[in-house]
Amino acid sequence: MPRSANTPPQQTPQAVSSNTSSQTWSRREAEDYYGFRRWGSGHFSVDDSGCLCVHPLGDQRSIRILDIVEQAAQAGLRPPLTIRVQDMLRQRVTQLNEAFRAAISGEEYEGTYRGVFPIKVNQLREVVEEILDAGEKYDFGLEAGSKPELLVALALLENKNALLICNGYKDDEYIRLALMGRRIGKQTVIVVEQLSEIDAIIRLSREMGVEPCIGLRIKLTTAGEGKWAESTGENAKFGLTASEILAAGRKLKRARLGNALRLVHFHIGSQVPNISTIKKAVTEAARYYCELVRLGFPMGILDVGGGLGVDYDGSRSNYESSMNYSMEAYARDIIANVKNVCVQCSVQPPDITSESGRALVAPHSILIFEAVDHIARGADGDIPPLRGKRPMIVREMEDINQNPSRLDALERFHDAKQKKEEAHSLFNLGYLGLEERAAVDRLFWCVCRDIHDKLPAGGEIPDELGELDKLLAAQYVCNFSVFQSLLDHWALDQLFPIAPIHRLNEKPTVPATLVDITCDSDGKVSAFIDLEDIKSTLRLHPLQSNKRYYLGAFLVGAYQDIMGDLHNLFGRVNEAHVFLEDDEEDGFYIEETIPGSTTDKILGMIQYTADDLCRMVKRQIDRATRADQVRPREGVAMLEMYEKLMHSKTYLARNKPDEKKTRPIKGETTETTPPPVLFPKKN
Ligand SMILES: *Cc1c(COP(=O)(O)O)cnc(C)c1O
Repeated sequence: MPRSANTPPQQTPQAVSSNTSSQTWSRREAEDYYGFRRWGSGHFSVDDSGCLCVHPLGDQRSIRILDIVEQAAQAGLRPPLTIRVQDMLRQRVTQLNEAFRAAISGEEYEGTYRGVFPIKVNQLREVVEEILDAGEKYDFGLEAGSKPELLVALALLENKNALLICNGYKDDEYIRLALMGRRIGKQTVIVVEQLSEIDAIIRLSREMGVEPCIGLRIKLTTAGEGKWAESTGENAKFGLTASEILAAGRKLKRARLGNALRLVHFHIGSQVPNISTIKKAVTEAARYYCELVRLGFPMGILDVGGGLGVDYDGSRSNYESSMNYSMEAYARDIIANVKNVCVQCSVQPPDITSESGRALVAPHSILIFEAVDHIARGADGDIPPLRGKRPMIVREMEDINQNPSRLDALERFHDAKQKKEEAHSLFNLGYLGLEERAAVDRLFWCVCRDIHDKLPAGGEIPDELGELDKLLAAQYVCNFSVFQSLLDHWALDQLFPIAPIHRLNEKPTVPATLVDITCDSDGKVSAFIDLEDIKSTLRLHPLQSNKRYYLGAFLVGAYQDIMGDLHNLFGRVNEAHVFLEDDEEDGFYIEETIPGSTTDKILGMIQYTADDLCRMVKRQIDRATRADQVRPREGVAMLEMYEKLMHSKTYLARNKPDEKKTRPIKGETTETTPPPVLFPKKN
């Protein structure tokens, strides 16, 4: 008997393979598919139990990420959770400094390297403190781009040999603050971004009796490349042109502050994928440096800004989410190119500073979130079989479904699409019932799936059919907000590696995209890393009703932590800061936890106070109680629930049936205590 709409298709809708029982998968296959070895640069591996492990120092010592998640959950901090692997942060600081040291000795360069961390990339106190601590022996300093950042930097940076670079637009207060830094013995350098700042610096340094240390930001003609290319070139919003530099120099000399000019600065934009861009920019900046020396300024430092990339897709290419060079090559090329220019111009080579933010902090942070539900495409749920005579349109669709060989794939797809559209018109006109429309839709998706499964692997595929992959993908609903935690994915289409952190010994069979819990259709992830390419779906494991399914987004420590917004009032996620520890059973300990935002705190930022809102609701409940719409006991329970949620976390709180209760942190309501019973039964 031919299959009809009455007999449901045997295939489970969401799984690609007809076999949904889990197939084993090798470690290699998992590492390959999700790219752990490519983008992880030795920091990630899969263990025998199919769990993802992080190797903070890139050696054998590893921590199972699921263990961290479970330990944090025990303390009441469920995902969404940011895990900071502090040892990894330290290791990056060491790696950068050692790369420059090696380059300096390799090139027999006569200057030194003293880098700074631009705190705008991640201002979190623990991050900045960890970097300063790891960088202490290298005299590693800080860069500030605003008054608040400078206030932080002045307080935290105590190393007198380290640089404190002051960038960004400046008013009198900013300049005063920087000059105050000089008075208390810090190496504060004010980098002039616009000509008008020179006058203010001259005036204020006289007023305060402080000799400033001044740098000039140069508007390079070397064009950047990649997503942030607009930071350079003629139309850049920052920097001085050649004639403005001459004017600035004249102003300083006239004010007898010529000796204050010490530094040349440039920044070609973040995530530079191509090393040749960096070489060109460095050469151009070094020429400016030498010219300023020739004009009689003392100088001494060349600041090469940021731009050092992160290989998000692991392809080691000049694709925009990658980089075609290593940190070591970056340092070598800078040192070698500056040296060349200086030799040519017979100028003493400057000390080098760089402002690498992304490269230092991106790798240490992992965002863990839970897939809580999925929206399947096509046939799903229990659809009752059609009774009685089936309308023509249903039979036509059945025919397309049952006779795959009569038409070629594209024709079959077109026919099915046309019949589906017809069915929708008939439904709108009142000629087709809901059950029949559902049957047609269901058959349509069966046809799509059948076509998709039969597409030749690696062969030429018409564009429309190539889209089937995306069309058929399940949407995994994930308990997090793209606007809070992966802002650059939304704003700039930046790609981050995403992968499950467990079940990696099971073959993932469901092509999926991710959607977040904001009420915004843009709150989604439908582009994933691939080798020098983008894939529109990611294969994931089928969700299991009684088990949690955790995904990780990796390399998110730069910018994402700090630029998130309050879309839908979700706010910051929970955080756990992890260190390697040999004495501990799991090889790690959580040094610090930071609970995510509670609703009252978020509401406070937009001028609501929890007390007021509770009072307003209480008044309305009281009124309903007096009017006898609500029983007094019920009224009390309602108010209790409202008040409790006001002080709870903002993200979804979900309990799985077989999980133990978590131990609440003192003074904090956990997501797992059940709310008071509403609407008690009338007795
Ligand atoms: C943002 C910024 C940086 C950091 O750039 P990365 O590419 O993240 O290293 C450095 N310097 C300046 C002036 C910046 O604005």
